[in-house]
Amino acid sequence: YYCPSLISMNMTKFADLHIHTHYSDSTDSPQEVVRQAHFQKLMCIAITDHDTVAGIAPTILAAQQFSLEIVPGIELSTEIDEKDIHMLGYFFDYQNPFLLEKLKQIQEARLERIKKMIALLKKEGINNIEWEEVCQLAPLASLGRPHLATILKQKGWVRDIKEAFEKYIGDKCPAYVSKYKQTPYEAIDLIRRCGGVAVLAHPMLTNKDELIPSFIEAGLQGLEVYYANSSDTSIKYYEGIAKKHHLIMTGGSDAHGKVKNNTYVGKTQIPYETVEQLRQVATVRR
Ligand code: AMP
Ligand code: ZN
Ligand code: FE
Ligand code: FE
Repeated sequence: YYCPSLISMNMTKFADLHIHTHYSDSTDSPQEVVRQAHFQKLMCIAITDHDTVAGIAPTILAAQQFSLEIVPGIELSTEIDEKDIHMLGYFFDYQNPFLLEKLKQIQEARLERIKKMIALLKKEGINNIEWEEVCQLAPLASLGRPHLATILKQKGWVRDIKEAFEKYIGDKCPAYVSKYKQTPYEAIDLIRRCGGVAVLAHPMLTNKDELIPSFIEAGLQGLEVYYANSSDTSIKYYEGIAKKHHLIMTGGSDAHGKVKNNTYVGKTQIPYETVEQLRQVATVRR
């Protein structure tokens, strides 16, 4: 006797469309990410590092020994009304020269920002951090606050990453410096000009739902409805918004390796059909 629902369950393919690597602020290499995705029996993952595409090719290479599809992705940092908004991009041309030049500028600004934050930490009495150490910690990476938090922890100034953000480098804290940022509209435009699909990341964390109609006008085509640790209420709410505006409902874990311990690769899994929807929208425009 075969249970039909069991058979169809086994055949359902799943994807996790929000994953970082050590090319931004995760502690995991592409090889580690791919191993975890394989362990979770995922069919497909998207690499969505902060402001960089450097992790995409190495992950595609690492995935070759498994039957795992890698979707090219990015999570662009943007700012509007002093509020951080993360914009995801999928299925864009990640070798587009204009995109690469823009990302290079952003990397340089991220480095300058870390230097400024170290100077502010000195004013707080933390005088034993050099920016070279931060670079050494993450030689490949799009540098971010989690790297600085790790050094603060290593040197005993804080007990954990969370405390580093609460005491020193979180928004509005003494050593906080905002980074080079584009507006969400510019990010949407950049992703679309490279042939990709723009998706608003974790709207439940951002709390700027009133801007969604203006993002759609600028070219937004998806909403990250399914996100690690989001409640049923939040999921229902954002499913409603996505349906109302005909946005593709995406989802992912936002796995960051050891710097974010409340999530992991495969913690959020969405049906593979969503990948097909994104691919189709990306292709149709070309
Ligand atoms: P950055 O892009 O350098 O501003 O760093 C932002 C990243 O820091 C986010 O994507 C998170 O991974 C992490 N982050 C932000 N706030 C916190 C927090 N309060 N505790 C731990 N990690 C955080
Ligand atoms: Zn991050
Ligand atoms: Fe984010
Ligand atoms: Fe993320």
